[in-house]
Amino acid sequence: MSRFYVTTPIYYVNAEPHLGHAYTTIVGDALTRWSRLMGNEVKYLTGTDEHGLKIQQAAQAAGQTPQEFTDEIAPKFAHAWERLNIANDDFIRTTEPRHKAAVVELLQRCYDAGDIELGVYSGKYCVACEEYYTDEELLPGDLCPIHKKLVDTYEEENYFFRLSRFQDRLLDWYAAHPGAIKPDHRANEALGLIRGGLRDFSVSRTSLDWGIPLPWDPKHVTYVWFDALTNYLSATGFGDNEQTYTDWWPVDYHLIGKDIIRHHCVYWPAMLMSAGVELPKGWGVGGWLLVDGEKMAKSGGNAVNPLELIDTVGVDGFRYYVLAETPYGTDGDFSYEGLVAKYNSDLANNFGNLAARVATVVAKKCGGIGPAPRADSPLAAAASAAFEGAQRGWNDVAPSKALDATWSLIRATNAYLETNEPWKTEPGPEVDAVMGDALEALRIVSVLAFPAVPQTAQTVWERIGFTSNIADQRLPDSAAWGGYPGGLTVTKGDSLFPRIT
Ligand SMILES: [Zn+2]
Repeated sequence: MSRFYVTTPIYYVNAEPHLGHAYTTIVGDALTRWSRLMGNEVKYLTGTDEHGLKIQQAAQAAGQTPQEFTDEIAPKFAHAWERLNIANDDFIRTTEPRHKAAVVELLQRCYDAGDIELGVYSGKYCVACEEYYTDEELLPGDLCPIHKKLVDTYEEENYFFRLSRFQDRLLDWYAAHPGAIKPDHRANEALGLIRGGLRDFSVSRTSLDWGIPLPWDPKHVTYVWFDALTNYLSATGFGDNEQTYTDWWPVDYHLIGKDIIRHHCVYWPAMLMSAGVELPKGWGVGGWLLVDGEKMAKSGGNAVNPLELIDTVGVDGFRYYVLAETPYGTDGDFSYEGLVAKYNSDLANNFGNLAARVATVVAKKCGGIGPAPRADSPLAAAASAAFEGAQRGWNDVAPSKALDATWSLIRATNAYLETNEPWKTEPGPEVDAVMGDALEALRIVSVLAFPAVPQTAQTVWERIGFTSNIADQRLPDSAAWGGYPGGLTVTKGDSLFPRIT
């Protein structure tokens, strides 16, 4: 058995979960559900980022301590992921002791390696980004390029991580590990950042006390990146449990949005090199789901609450849309109309319609008992192509391709039924053969679609007569043609995806 470790970014608790958070978290959930079907031992990690100036300020404004404030918001993320049927194996909060232990260990290693040094920093700083900007990066009038708000000028004694020393080593490493960052155009973006020259970055603040003190100089508090990024190690037991750490590290995929490429694909590997820690095996970089052409964010005023969309299209309808509509890595344009159109075409008219018509014909022509498929069914080749395409898609962190391959079997089966018109044929061996084939295709579709629409897949699984948990199926065996035994009771049930008009 292989291990497969996937992370989302930890989400900053200054705002409640929005569509952008949900997007990455659903991609990770589908990817890890697929990996479990493939028989791997999986660790899927998400969590919350709870330190920093913004939290300190937000807590103050709410009349709370930072800990009280974060204790209120963090469970909202955990709850949102439950509602979206996210099967994460761990949820890390940066205020936990296990995280502090890992941060202290990583900082000390980089300090001992001579890559963290004291200096003075003066610069223009966006509080909302927690990021200094150069004059070239700012918009005219000293406005933050993301928040379009006036930045502050800060000057203070900081420790710096000497990122500038790592340019050649990073380029060498990426040259030796092609394909580590997916998709390719995002890898080019990361390499461009490294080739463009690397500036040392600040790792501490004295102006802040909501954070983890530096182990060798506790009047400094760890600032942003050494705190946030290290969560990926903390959750493996780094700095605490050598066995679990070596079991799970290096991570298979860090799933991130394109706005944090610099931190995840440049800062983080350099920090790990300095500390003598193995680098991640992969990064999957997603685009933004844009609403009216703007990034989804609370500060932009265009936040869409994913939990409200569930009321319209259901959990699986929402999950399917974000996975299938936009190729991972490119920006998508989110709209309610687009969501409903995708739902109606792929779920109501295709998947839902196939399940309903199969159950109806089996009830009318086969006495409600599902017949066995033919070994030489014309659908067998479509099933095998669907599995191969799905496997390739998930392996490439390309959910939209994996689902298109899966849906190709749904389309082929609907076309097969329309060609054979079993509803017009007298009951007998001919109808049994066609319906056995259709049931077998539906069985395979359920398994392949499970990572995206887990609840629906389980429902279809039960309606075609199985009583087991579909999550216990194992690929590739479960995708091999001929697994439907025949003789099972088929039930119709309510519409899986009622059409939205
Ligand atoms: Zn900003």
